[in-house]
Amino acid sequence: MIVDNSKLILDGQKILWHKDRLIAWLNGERIAPITIDCALTKACSYKCVYCYGNLQENKGYVLNRDHIFRFLDDAAEIGVKAISFVSDGESAHSPHIYEALIRGKANGLDMALGTNGFPLKDERLEEILPTLTYLRFNISAGTPDRYSQIHGVPAGHFYKVIQTVKNCIEIKKRRNLSVTIGLQMVLLPEFRHDIMPLALLGKELGADYLVIKHCSDDENNSLGVCYDKYNDLEDVLKQAEALTTSEYLVKAKWSKIFSGGKRSYSKCYAMPFMIQMSGSGLVAPCGFLFNDKYKEKFHIGNIAEKSFKEIWKSERYWEVVNYLTSEKFNAHCDCGTLCLQHKVNEFLWDLKNGSINLDDIKISGETPMHVNFI
Ligand code: SF4
Repeated sequence: MIVDNSKLILDGQKILWHKDRLIAWLNGERIAPITIDCALTKACSYKCVYCYGNLQENKGYVLNRDHIFRFLDDAAEIGVKAISFVSDGESAHSPHIYEALIRGKANGLDMALGTNGFPLKDERLEEILPTLTYLRFNISAGTPDRYSQIHGVPAGHFYKVIQTVKNCIEIKKRRNLSVTIGLQMVLLPEFRHDIMPLALLGKELGADYLVIKHCSDDENNSLGVCYDKYNDLEDVLKQAEALTTSEYLVKAKWSKIFSGGKRSYSKCYAMPFMIQMSGSGLVAPCGFLFNDKYKEKFHIGNIAEKSFKEIWKSERYWEVVNYLTSEKFNAHCDCGTLCLQHKVNEFLWDLKNGSINLDDIKISGETPMHVNFI
């Protein structure tokens, strides 16, 4: 199998570029995660119509500077390579976001931030942009009215966010920074008419990319996402992708959008490679399992109570890893749809089941961008 490298992978996985950790895992070693996706708070002032955060309720803590710094220090020490502040809260609401990015980067971690952009202080952008591998703005509409309807905020918020995007791009260009500045649209089937205005806006702003992704749902279809209806959007998604130039990439996550929300694997092997932490400090295999109803089987610990290093070393951590790959667990019926770990899980399933052999894999071309965000 030859992997055809593209520079910016937005619809795939990058675990292949971490062969040493794959081999260690296959040999039964207790490896450190490559990527941790987390939030610094559970707070968010937006009320997006597709918000998954409402399904992730769990009791925890308001994370302070010490909790966050200890976590970032531990992560670096045990061999984590990248931390993305995304997860179940708007991390830019944490008063510690700026220092946290600086601390993580100083520790040698690759840092990333996903934000709606509204709480970001423009006067602090100069400090944080050099620390970031990527900065992604979550924005699902290209006009103030639709922005207001989809994100559940006054239309005026749109203008603040757009100005912040512009400021980031101006700083990046002026200082020749390597940070990738992108936009992310969460697509519901009823957003057909929002796709092109947003794709055009991204181009006009000078963003590096717009990625258009599916909406995840839980195992009970609580958000009511109808995956069959995505099929009607192929034409307009292709039209949006046609705006791609050498400087601006528009990419629909085709493999997930048209998956029908289904999985090819029944066990979850991804946890040792990438885990998630709630803005409450809760460490769990993934965001889908943050809700308190999953506490007994899947919650591992809280960084406000114990250091992340202790949590990672604990028998509880590895008990959960083993449960997810045991006969007691079936990802077809025990999980929500299309989780963050989905593409990694597809690969690991094939690897474990022998349809992929690591020795047969030859990687051609350059290392992809954001390689540590697998
Ligand atoms: S497969 Fe299931 S358990 Fe594993 S990360 Fe995805 S949602 Fe979580």
